[in-house]
Amino acid sequence: MEKFYENTTENSLKSSLHKLILPQECANRTQKDQVPEYIVLHEPSTGLYKTPPSFNMQYYARKILIDGLQGKEVGYHFLVGDKKVYQFIPEDEVAYHTGTSFNYKSIGVERLVCMGISHEDALHNQAKLVATLMVKWGLGIDKVITHLETRRRSLIKPRVCPSRLLAGLYGGLPGFMQEISYCLKTRDLFFELFESTKLIDDLFKLKLKPEEDFVRIRGK
Ligand SMILES: [Zn+2]
Repeated sequence: MEKFYENTTENSLKSSLHKLILPQECANRTQKDQVPEYIVLHEPSTGLYKTPPSFNMQYYARKILIDGLQGKEVGYHFLVGDKKVYQFIPEDEVAYHTGTSFNYKSIGVERLVCMGISHEDALHNQAKLVATLMVKWGLGIDKVITHLETRRRSLIKPRVCPSRLLAGLYGGLPGFMQEISYCLKTRDLFFELFESTKLIDDLFKLKLKPEEDFVRIRGK
């Protein structure tokens, strides 16, 4: 499986993951436990090519914090940009990011969209994070679904998200899925998300067969 995003620059190689876990008093910290069964893909949308550069990582980090402090329950676990990844909510805690019952069994991963960023680098980082979460939580690629799909399966009014990927931009979902496979194959993962070196050892002991697009360390 070849790398899909050919234009990926060194930004993504240097990208780092930062835990900016929201304080417990935030309403978007639900304090409800979950075992993740799905990884849900999102993009914020303010209209194609219309999102100003000021809607950056800092903007959304501030927004989710202020929303939470003001009592808004909407939240998501990760925000991925072209140079950084932020985590706001622990993966084993419920977050309200789909408007469906998938909220109680999934990890929400938003990808930053604004003018001035490298979309391919952000997409690579999102694929790398999804690959990491698949390994960590023992999930196959069939458990990586779009926000739209959670609503379809719940028979709730559709919401076209992630809209750009669904519209086929940047290679659409097939390209994105290929990049996930590439990250698994080359072990291009955010290792800082693994809590112990034991888990990493287990990962490498498995002698991954990434062509199967499936990695299982724990879970069912
Ligand atoms: Zn969404």
